[in-house]
Amino acid sequence: MDPFTLTCRLCDQAAAVQWQRRLTPGEFETVLAAEHARRDQAALLADPAQPPPSFGPMPDPAHYTTPVYACSPHAITLDAAALVHQATCTAPAAADLPGCSCTPEPVPSPNPEATATAALPGHWNT
Ligand SMILES: [Zn+2]
Ligand SMILES: [Zn+2]
Repeated sequence: MDPFTLTCRLCDQAAAVQWQRRLTPGEFETVLAAEHARRDQAALLADPAQPPPSFGPMPDPAHYTTPVYACSPHAITLDAAALVHQATCTAPAAADLPGCSCTPEPVPSPNPEATATAALPGHWNT
């Protein structure tokens, strides 16, 4: 199969659906290593006549997810696919379908600032 075709995690058929799960500790180590390498490179290339580069906080695992792909027969439910799954989630696993082995994270509560609506100009309303 084309190496760029996304495949089902369970059976290697072409993927039809995807959802998100948190990174395992090993996967997050890769993210941290890349960030350390980026910072080391930036420090190495920094102009010594200028203040040293300042970096923000290190990556937070709570900000990272990775996609999980599945073919149609191995898809979890649409409602479950809308949520972020635990790093330990084994979906799609034949024994759990159409569910999964974890309790997905709840939907984040809406940001009240983002839901505050400014009045639209009258001619923008149909
Ligand atoms: Zn499959
Ligand atoms: Zn899950």
